Amino acid sequence: MSNVILIVEDEKDLLSTLDYNLTREGYRTRCASSGREALAAAFEAPVPDLVVLDLMLPDMSGTEICRRLRADARTKAIPVVMTTAKSEEIDRVVGFAVGADDYVVKPFSVRELLLRVRAVLRRVRTEPPEQALTQLEFGRVRLDTAAHRCWVDGDETVLTALEFKLLTTLLERRGRVQTRDMLLSDVWGFSAELTTRTVDTHVKRLRQKLGPAGRYVETLRGVGYRFAASPSEDAT
Ligand code: CA
Repeated sequence: MSNVILIVEDEKDLLSTLDYNLTREGYRTRCASSGREALAAAFEAPVPDLVVLDLMLPDMSGTEICRRLRADARTKAIPVVMTTAKSEEIDRVVGFAVGADDYVVKPFSVRELLLRVRAVLRRVRTEPPEQALTQLEFGRVRLDTAAHRCWVDGDETVLTALEFKLLTTLLERRGRVQTRDMLLSDVWGFSAELTTRTVDTHVKRLRQKLGPAGRYVETLRGVGYRFAASPSEDAT
């Protein structure tokens, strides 16, 4: 059975272009040109295998739709490829914070979008939801997630349980922006009593402990943090 793709786009021409091309690629498509339509179509059975989601819609933002999909058990695992205009940089970041799996910047080539769609579907199919890897290596850092141990350039660095969790969370989501609020809820598990300052304090300590590898953790002023996408990426 071919995958069902929900296309959410309020620009009519673009919507029909995407519909045409995705259909030609063998996908079954469902189209929506507003947030309201998108949500209705997303909860229709069978739920889509992937959503191509426009960030700017007349009645609702793509991030809001993404958030609602993530909040419901039926739709929370559906991968989302966000489409955004260039000027929407910050919103794009927020898009990642609410869990978009990938994005393309408008104007994009249909070919590029098709490649992203295919790649995301492949990743979802082959990746088990929980990563079973216990040995992680990234440039100068090596982690044993089962034993909760960390080495930088071969020397062990002792991290607290919290610092370890912060590091693995950032590392697993490398290349993606993590807002302080996100880190609070995912690393600390709750956010009521804590302020975003807590995150800054712990990231600072973690960076110090990582020494030369601390530069992998990049600060995005006013937004949050990002682990380098690759060890060679120079954050300085
Ligand atoms: Ca739009």
